[in-house]
Amino acid sequence: DAVITVRGLHKVYGNSTVALDNIDLSFMRGHLTSLLGPSGCGKTTLLKIIAGLLKPTSGEVLVNGKPVRGPGPERAFVFQDFALMPWATVLRNAAFGLEVRGAPKAEREDRARHYINEVGLAGFEDKYPHELSGGMRQRVGLARALAVDADVLLMDEPFSAVDEQTRRKFQEDLIRLREVENKTFILVTHSIEEAVYLSDRIVLLSPRPGRVADIMEPDIDRNVD
Ligand code: ADP
Ligand code: ADP
Repeated sequence: DAVITVRGLHKVYGNSTVALDNIDLSFMRGHLTSLLGPSGCGKTTLLKIIAGLLKPTSGEVLVNGKPVRGPGPERAFVFQDFALMPWATVLRNAAFGLEVRGAPKAEREDRARHYINEVGLAGFEDKYPHELSGGMRQRVGLARALAVDADVLLMDEPFSAVDEQTRRKFQEDLIRLREVENKTFILVTHSIEEAVYLSDRIVLLSPRPGRVADIMEPDIDRNVD
């Protein structure tokens, strides 16, 4: 079933920059969808509208069939710069989304530890962001998003800042989390290779104004254990 639906979405910046033109899409639970297209076609705009961080000029976003206006706990936006607190440990950073929501300390630390483990950072709980590589910081950002138990994880070019080897590992983590945790991922990318490797579905946007040019379902055997 569709966890996210967007209907008749238009986004105009200022008076004349039409970034999105009449986008209709559904995103299925447990699927990984890539938004693919050339620079400036509106991928980030679409992702931020789905996240509730940006208002569409017209049209609507539905979460589990209900219209939403703004952010909500079912959707977590994983920021490109990871937005970690440099003065806080990995554990506190990963638990921060829960801290904001007022979860008790024991509960939020339990959940944070579970997801730190899930993203392959067990043993790094007491480190600080500057002691980690870029790829590891990115995993902390993902652990934080997972710890708040959002169903939908929204990621803008999540692999752009890391080297090839880290990228592959991180991609395999996402594929596994999608299967094990039944999380829904929506990723922005401009790499067709990456999109084909990772995705259940690829939404191809046309150059500005962004319209849905094509929807593809790559069917490849990834052999990820
Ligand atoms: P993409 O993520 O595909 O590169 P964006 O969603 O960032 O595309 O941008 C789509 C279009 O909207 C581009 O032409 C961009 O310059 C324009 N745009 C994005 N954000 C703003 C903004 N805050 N104000 C004005 N124009 C913007
Ligand atoms: P990316 O390429 O990573 O999607 P950009 O460098 O296009 O990001 O945009 C960075 C920020 O600047 C975004 O928040 C976007 O909304 C904003 N932005 C992009 N294009 C414009 C524009 N033409 N006018 C004003 N803000 C813009």
